[in-house]
Amino acid sequence: MDDSEKGTVYLIGAGPGDPELITLKGWRIAKSCDVVLYDSLIPDEIIVSLPSSIKKIYVGKRGGRQSIPQDEINEMMVELALDGKNIARLKGSDPIIFGRGGEEAMYLKEHGIRFEIIPGVTSGIAGPTYAGIPCTDRNKASYIMFLTGHKAKEKEFSTIPWDWVAKAKGGTLVLYMAVSEIADIVAELIDSGMPPDTPAATIERATYPTQRSFKSVLKDLPNIVADQCVKAPALFVIGEVVDLQPYLTWFEDKPLFGVRVMVTRAAEQAADTYRTLRDLGAEVLPYPTIEISEHFDEEAWAAFENIRNENRWLVFTSENGVRYFMRKLSYHIGDMRHLAYFSIAAVGEGTARALRKHCIEPDFVPSTATVADLAAEFSQYVDAKGATVVRVRGNLSDNMFEEMAESKGAEVLPLMVYRTSHYRWPMEFKEKLFEYPPDVMLFTSGSTFEGLFANLNDDEVKRLTSTAKIFSIGPSTSEKIRQRGFEVTAESTPHTIPALIETLVDYMSEV
Ligand code: SAH
Repeated sequence: MDDSEKGTVYLIGAGPGDPELITLKGWRIAKSCDVVLYDSLIPDEIIVSLPSSIKKIYVGKRGGRQSIPQDEINEMMVELALDGKNIARLKGSDPIIFGRGGEEAMYLKEHGIRFEIIPGVTSGIAGPTYAGIPCTDRNKASYIMFLTGHKAKEKEFSTIPWDWVAKAKGGTLVLYMAVSEIADIVAELIDSGMPPDTPAATIERATYPTQRSFKSVLKDLPNIVADQCVKAPALFVIGEVVDLQPYLTWFEDKPLFGVRVMVTRAAEQAADTYRTLRDLGAEVLPYPTIEISEHFDEEAWAAFENIRNENRWLVFTSENGVRYFMRKLSYHIGDMRHLAYFSIAAVGEGTARALRKHCIEPDFVPSTATVADLAAEFSQYVDAKGATVVRVRGNLSDNMFEEMAESKGAEVLPLMVYRTSHYRWPMEFKEKLFEYPPDVMLFTSGSTFEGLFANLNDDEVKRLTSTAKIFSIGPSTSEKIRQRGFEVTAESTPHTIPALIETLVDYMSEV
């Protein structure tokens, strides 16, 4: 087989948890591969943000069972590469540091498959930094040691000279994979002469908004693990630098720190929402329940282009309507001035804002953001009789407005520009959702709530909402939620995503 017909494998470090800690190069390559192989330490947000054309294969642990054996992963990569596919093998944090990336690369080389290795931010650096501990410091530590605690008890496996490590002074030790071995490691270090009151910290789920860090001393590490039920992934940092933590905490002080927020809007439109929530310290659970795609109805566009009636209206009822309409407008009509002959109505502040981004000031915005109000107020405001009204819509919009306008004597042209369909989560998503359930669920349209039921049954939704609060963007979304018998904790005004997030921050500061 000609080498040029084979694919390349990219071993990419995806960072320790905060999805933005993947490198620019890693992200660029992951987005352009044919297949992505990933395991349980890869942030979900990275996976859902990849284009839907990429095949995503989960090779991590499932429900307490073992991960897919390393041999199988190796073989899978070779097979896919021989099939001409470019593969992004996403690995937690850095691909090599205690990550077996070297072994995988070796196997690929033996089988004649090209590879590249893209380093990542290792958890041993990112974890202490997010916990407010600098690994080096001019006065306290001039070297760092990364150690694995894996099988530390079994002398035949561990090659670490613990008695030598114990005598190291003026540096920082960072222990990976040591939760279950910590009592033995601490005993070994103390027996070999390390002072029992050496400052030490435990950092669990570092860089995730559910990060927990505990400052203590060496001899107390096993108690911390037991009392606080510390679980992997976790790190231990041992050395004088831990004393700087009280001065340098930053991540754990954020307003939504530790709050787990499930975001259900379509992933391709949620990047800003994810980022804003994360910047506020929340853990984003990206569980899109809908997918939006553009729709083109040639006949309707031709009819739109040929409207000659002087009394003509263009009605937008969602931001998506504006977005997809504008894309098509430039493509199929190609001249913004075509809109100059239309009066324009918008439901909701978000929709009006989306229009303003295109330098269009709506002529009419009903007092509240429902299509029912639009229908009621529109006929008072406008002389509908004899008007031609273009209603920009998606496939799920209801027909209430059209019916009202027609009953008042208008001619209505529905112009469908996008379609919303339910998004089905990858297989392992549901399991993870119940393992780390949300504190808050955000719904930004009725369809995002309906889409939940394409993935979960009624009982499962009840289980989630028994502990999670529901936040809704506005009255029509809340109505859909209540119709199914669920309670809305808070609704935002105005009905925009920034306002919804502000409502959440206010709510959290009060509870
Ligand atoms: N290649 C990874 C390490 C894989 S070994 C890296 O560069 O970090 C797995 C160990 O890494 C875990 O047992 C834990 O000690 C550490 N680890 C990985 N992610 C972590 C996180 N978010 N928080 C704390 N420790 C983490």
